[in-house]
Amino acid sequence: MLAEIITIGDELLIGQVIDTNSAFIAKQLNKIGISVYQITSVQDDKEHILRALKDSERNVDIIILTGGLGPTKDDITKKTIAEYFDDTLVQDTAVLQNIESIWKQYIRQTLLQVNKDQALVPSKATVLMNKVGTAPGMWMEKGDKTFISLPGVPFEMKALLNNDVIPKLKNKYHCPFILHKTLLVYGLGESTLAARIEVWEESLPKHIKLAYLPSLGKMRLRLSAKGFERQKVEEEVQQQIDKVLPLIKKEFFGYEDDDGNEEVVIGNQLTKMGKTLAIAESCTGGKLTELFTANSGASKYLKGGVVTYATQSKIDILNIPEDLIDSYSVVSAPVAEAMAENVLKLYKSDFAVSTTGNAGPTKGDSNAEVGTVFIAIATINGVYSKEFNFGNHRTRVINKAVNKALEMLQK
Ligand code: ATP
Ligand code: MG
Repeated sequence: MLAEIITIGDELLIGQVIDTNSAFIAKQLNKIGISVYQITSVQDDKEHILRALKDSERNVDIIILTGGLGPTKDDITKKTIAEYFDDTLVQDTAVLQNIESIWKQYIRQTLLQVNKDQALVPSKATVLMNKVGTAPGMWMEKGDKTFISLPGVPFEMKALLNNDVIPKLKNKYHCPFILHKTLLVYGLGESTLAARIEVWEESLPKHIKLAYLPSLGKMRLRLSAKGFERQKVEEEVQQQIDKVLPLIKKEFFGYEDDDGNEEVVIGNQLTKMGKTLAIAESCTGGKLTELFTANSGASKYLKGGVVTYATQSKIDILNIPEDLIDSYSVVSAPVAEAMAENVLKLYKSDFAVSTTGNAGPTKGDSNAEVGTVFIAIATINGVYSKEFNFGNHRTRVINKAVNKALEMLQK
């Protein structure tokens, strides 16, 4: 079963908004065994949308559009779809009621004709009721092809996709089950890893695919398998994982969760153990802490963190002895370790992590080489640190330091 995703909106083509809708939809489709053949972004332009529809109808079974359903003149998806289906727009009473009730409850302004017009849908469409917004989703069929139009607002699109579209698609198409299992592997380059697991990789059965996804200091190794029996697919993949794990025992970090966050893996482990974490950041500027707090439930294990960026703040806030900084450097193992130990005490946590480094582009007051980063881990039983050089590109240095800190926390 093949699908195409068409995202509509001028904002996508001028780089003002990043198309996150496609990635989300692709992931959800994959989970029910529908492969995405192509992702296209087009302007709010009738001819472009018509051309994209025609093109995708030739190639795929399912076409999902997002965007362009708003009340403003530039949103023309609905009219265009009606034209494509040789159809007219008619008012849907249930949608109009939904709009009126949203207006009454949240907006409390005069309901204008353009707002009422959001209840206009092609007469051949099945309405997917948008409970969290005013633009309805639409489901249309042409032979065995399905066309689905969803609002552009990610929050609204996700609600409709998960609650209506995915169940309906599962029902209509007999979809095979696709399983992706991603192993996080640290500290091995792509070619070294490939050489290490070569024999195993070659022995993989044809229906199990392997992909290497490298990113700043870590590697994601994704196994994908397809089949009609969920349990069988899961067992087969597990068998292969059992074979490869002994080969990467030291470098294996854990499994990536659905959204790909190691911090979620760490957070779950801490929660399970009933342990807590505190963070002291310098060169990573709060990025590490933010990764944890982006996930709900972080308060169960994350006590808090400090960003002591200036040298004086490390002295004032974290009580780092001034002579320690003078004798070594603000970017040094003893300072990183003192930061971790002191933030551990400050928050009375079970674990603490700290970062101090020079992300560049100039040497700064630390006099440390650009790219030098020290990361320390403290527990009530002791502290240790490691020195790294992450190169001379500021953003990459920071991101690599964050990834490394996560890796060290896991171990
Ligand atoms: P509504 O009537 O609920 O606003 P809509 O279909 O008219 O829905 P658009 O006007 O096209 O939606 O887009 C609304 C907002 O949604 C845009 O400003 C943009 O921020 C966001 N958006 C649109 N398309 C995408 C996309 N593909 N990925 C991420 N965000 C998007
Ligand atoms: Mg738009």
